[in-house]
Amino acid sequence: MRFIVDLPLAGLAKWLRFCGFDATVQRFPGRLPAAAPGVYLLTRQQTLDRTERADLLVLTAPDSERQLEEVLRRLQITRGLLQFLSRCGQCNEILVSLPRDQVLGLVPEHVFHTQEQFHQCPKCRQIFWPGSHLPGIISKVLAKLA
Ligand SMILES: [Zn+2]
Repeated sequence: MRFIVDLPLAGLAKWLRFCGFDATVQRFPGRLPAAAPGVYLLTRQQTLDRTERADLLVLTAPDSERQLEEVLRRLQITRGLLQFLSRCGQCNEILVSLPRDQVLGLVPEHVFHTQEQFHQCPKCRQIFWPGSHLPGIISKVLAKLA
């Protein structure tokens, strides 16, 4: 499952990536991106609701947190389908795992001593570890998921 997100929903795209989904941001012009298998278009432009596209989700939730909840609910995405720490929230790149001995000096010392698994974004080089970048917003949404 992949998402193409309307530019004003860039905040939502970030949370979707944190959940492991491929989410690219694009400004929707008068013409929508072509339909493709497994790809959903997300927007809040209510006028687009009149286009009869099964792959288009016109969201009603006002903020990213509730939009994420709305997407997961409407597409019946369950907890098991989410893959945390697999994608960079900023770049949408797939994270690669980083041997522990390579992160010394790159992460706070207490993190180095308490964590076993590290992942890095090949593009922006940011380093992630369990719990590091799982924002509270996700935990709140997760709590409401099946
Ligand atoms: Zn990145």
